[in-house]
Amino acid sequence: MKKLAIAAAILIMVCVGASSVAAMSHGDAKVRIFWTGSGLLGPFSILDVLPTYPKDQDRQVMMPVVMFIIDHPKGLVVFDTGNNVAISDGNCKSHWNSWICDALQPSQTREEVIDRQLEKVGYSVGDVKIVITSHSHLDHIGNIEMFPDAIHVIQKKELYQAWWPEKFQRGGAHVMADYDDARDFIYFELDGDYDLFGDGSVIVISTPGHTLGHQSVKVQLADTGTVLLTQDAVWVEENLEGYPAGLNYSILDYNKSIQRIKMLRDIENAQLWLGHSMKQHEEMAEKWYQ
Ligand SMILES: [Zn+2]
Repeated sequence: MKKLAIAAAILIMVCVGASSVAAMSHGDAKVRIFWTGSGLLGPFSILDVLPTYPKDQDRQVMMPVVMFIIDHPKGLVVFDTGNNVAISDGNCKSHWNSWICDALQPSQTREEVIDRQLEKVGYSVGDVKIVITSHSHLDHIGNIEMFPDAIHVIQKKELYQAWWPEKFQRGGAHVMADYDDARDFIYFELDGDYDLFGDGSVIVISTPGHTLGHQSVKVQLADTGTVLLTQDAVWVEENLEGYPAGLNYSILDYNKSIQRIKMLRDIENAQLWLGHSMKQHEEMAEKWYQ
């Protein structure tokens, strides 16, 4: 009996000890996100962006090119790399086709490119362990070649999309020169969702439709709560109100992804941080969230 009691006491000590260690390591794992941007696009008519939007509510809109720096104890992450550095300061036509420059009207300054944005918060491109690319359009994959030493997390299908886009998107939304020298980088090719650091704090979420292999990122923050960085799965608030974005690989998959994102929002009380919302960007950019 006595032996049994001692064994039980040891077991309790081990269990309590183990759970307090787990709690401590969880508490230490502070994740924070810096919201930043690679300049603005526009102005354009909202009807050019959302073709089914009511015509009598037409208005001119600007769109930010949103990027995130995620600081996790196991490594620094960049989520999307914005427009290519070459288009900065009014030099769009040196890198993008003339018509897409005229259509998107990017106003990125050199200071807004991801390398300088990292420097503003005390890092350099060499500090980045992981680059997550939502998809291979020009305003998201633009500076992937600045990160030759990082691990690149992308859906395998999106690599197919990047290197053989639909004909109607070639030379437009996909700029091969953004990534043609990145073919031999280290790619972690995903097929669906993935818990990046194995602790549930940064989870890649598959949200196809805008492109073949579009992905978003869900982050658990200690103070802010659960946030879903949608990127182009949701451009703007109106996409959640039944007006789909005008550029999609598959409108069926796009709508399924919108539905999935709404369920994440409603079931997990997740905040949705949208890919091109001027309203959110004005409120949220250039700040850390933890
Ligand atoms: Zn975009």
